[in-house]
Amino acid sequence: MAELFYDADANLGVLQQRKVAIIGYGSQGHAHALNLRDSGIDVRVGLRPGSKSVEKAENEGLRVVSVAQAAQEADVIMILAPDQVQRIVYRDEIAPYLQPGNALFFAHGFNIRFGYIQPPAGVDVCMVAPKGPGHLVRREYAEGRGVPVLVCVEKDETGFAWSLALAYAKGIGGLRAGGIRSTFTEETESDLFGEQAVLCGGASALITAGWETLVEAGYQPEIAYFECLHEMKLIVDLMYEGGIAKMRWSVSDTAEYGDYVSGPRVIDAGVKQRMREVLADIQSGAFAQRFIDDQDAGGPEFYALRAKAEAHPIEATGRELRKLMAWVKSHDDDYTEGTAAR
Ligand code: NAD
Ligand code: MG
Repeated sequence: MAELFYDADANLGVLQQRKVAIIGYGSQGHAHALNLRDSGIDVRVGLRPGSKSVEKAENEGLRVVSVAQAAQEADVIMILAPDQVQRIVYRDEIAPYLQPGNALFFAHGFNIRFGYIQPPAGVDVCMVAPKGPGHLVRREYAEGRGVPVLVCVEKDETGFAWSLALAYAKGIGGLRAGGIRSTFTEETESDLFGEQAVLCGGASALITAGWETLVEAGYQPEIAYFECLHEMKLIVDLMYEGGIAKMRWSVSDTAEYGDYVSGPRVIDAGVKQRMREVLADIQSGAFAQRFIDDQDAGGPEFYALRAKAEAHPIEATGRELRKLMAWVKSHDDDYTEGTAAR
């Protein structure tokens, strides 16, 4: 069973004595910076000069400095830049200022697990990884609640790394919901597997294959879109609320029976075998290397794959259909469609 930690298990004072730098002000960065500030922590945000986020952070009353200055001032440095740029930011603007007794924090273990960042002796390495997007981390905190977090210590050089990590988890509101002790290896490998095999890769491939099957059999693309994509949310919401069992309780007996007899015909032992192969590529570092090598070359494979996926006819069908659904469109403001590089 997982080991759980709550507010009463952590001492915020441990973090209130320190200076914290939040590097990056995106999904996670804005939530961590604002929640810590509201928990009485001395926070500065480190951003590139000219970053669009500077104004956003300053409008919230946060102090914004360069990444290098933030790293220099702080003794607890949370790196919330995108995973593929973290090692560059670390090498150029953080590593030169690290002192023994400092702590490096992450919200995902990618760069530590695969060795792209190798912190020096004397520096603690911790992770506080919210199990939800940053906007939820901020919203829940503001409402007096929190989003569960994974708490991990990779290197405890000071002897205080665990209490510091717990204090950070409490500061962003995570221990109001609960912190689960994990490791960089477990968090990184399971997170990558989940997004590749099930959440992002698996779900989008399943939806696309279903849509193509109906359309190739002569059904209208719009009908196929409703049946294979649009209704996915209703089904996932039910699972989210009460597990797979609640979804089966809510749908018709016809749908439930079809689930039992046809689901395993589609997702069979062959799929599970290939899931094991995906997991093996994650564990060996082969996936990480392919991603980082491509990023280092400017992302040619990444951007070609993005362009190809965006050109799939299911997207054009959806674009037209969503115009009919005002409540769907209103959730779509922050998404910039059809851009190869974002
Ligand atoms: P994001 O893309 O939303 O934001 C990244 C931020 O870093 C932006 O403010 C960007 O301007 C800034 N940035 C980019 N390049 C930079 C540079 N060279 N120097 C300084 N700042 C730079 O990223 P995110 O989704 O918040 O992810 C941050 C970390 O949190 C990642 O390790 C990610 O795996 C992890 N994480 C994300 C989520 C999530 O739901 N988004 C959940 C858990 C963990
Ligand atoms: Mg994840």
